[in-house]
Amino acid sequence: MPLENLIKGNAEFVENMFPGMKQELQDLVEHGQRPEVLFIGCSDSRVTPDLMLRTKPGDMFILRNVGNFVPPFKYDEDFHGSAAAIEYAVAVLKVKHIIVCGHMHCGACKSLHEYDSIPDTDSLVHVKTWLKLGMKAKERTLRNKKFNTEEEMYRATERNSIRHQLDNLLTYPDVAKLHEKGELQIHGWYYNIANGEIEYYEKESDSFKPLSEFKI
Ligand SMILES: [Zn+2]
Repeated sequence: MPLENLIKGNAEFVENMFPGMKQELQDLVEHGQRPEVLFIGCSDSRVTPDLMLRTKPGDMFILRNVGNFVPPFKYDEDFHGSAAAIEYAVAVLKVKHIIVCGHMHCGACKSLHEYDSIPDTDSLVHVKTWLKLGMKAKERTLRNKKFNTEEEMYRATERNSIRHQLDNLLTYPDVAKLHEKGELQIHGWYYNIANGEIEYYEKESDSFKPLSEFKI
C-alpha cells in the first residue's frame, strides 16, 4: 500500500468517522483509558485486532510483537518492551483479561523450523534471539506427532506456541497472583486469517474450539 493511501485514509477518518465517535473519544481524553483486555498479537499485517473483534478506541490495550511471544519474567534492568506492556496492563490498568492470540500462517512459527538457516549477522541478531521464545513450541510439535505435510506441522506449531506463551505469562508474579485469585483470566486464541474465525484454547481438553462456543 502506497504511503499516500495512509495520508488519504487519515483525512477520510477525520472527515467521516471521527465526528461519529467524538463523544466517546472526548470521554477517553478526559478520563483516560480503562481497557479491560490486554491483547497480545503478532505484528503480522494480516492480524487486525480492532477489525476482527469489532473493538473501538479504549477497548483493548494491545501488545504486538513478532510471533505474539511472551518472554518469561526476568528481573533485570534490560529493555524489555513486551514485559513492560504486560506489567503496565496488569499493575496500572488492572485489566481483567489477557488474550494471547496466535494466527494461521505465522512466519515466526514457521521460521522456528528453519532456524539454523537464519544467518548470524547484525541484521538479524535480535530476531534470532527473539525466536528462541518459540523453541519449546517447536520441540513439543516434533515430539508429539508425525505430520503428513509441512503445513500441518506449522499449524500445530502455531497452536503449541499459544500453549507455551500462556505458561510464560504465568511467570509474571502479578499475573500468577491475580490469576490464582480469579481476578485475572488468561486466554489463548488462534486466528484463522483465511476465514476470519477464531478458536479458543480449552485447558481441560487441551484442545482448540470455536470461539462461539466459549462459555463466559
Ligand atoms: Zn505471526
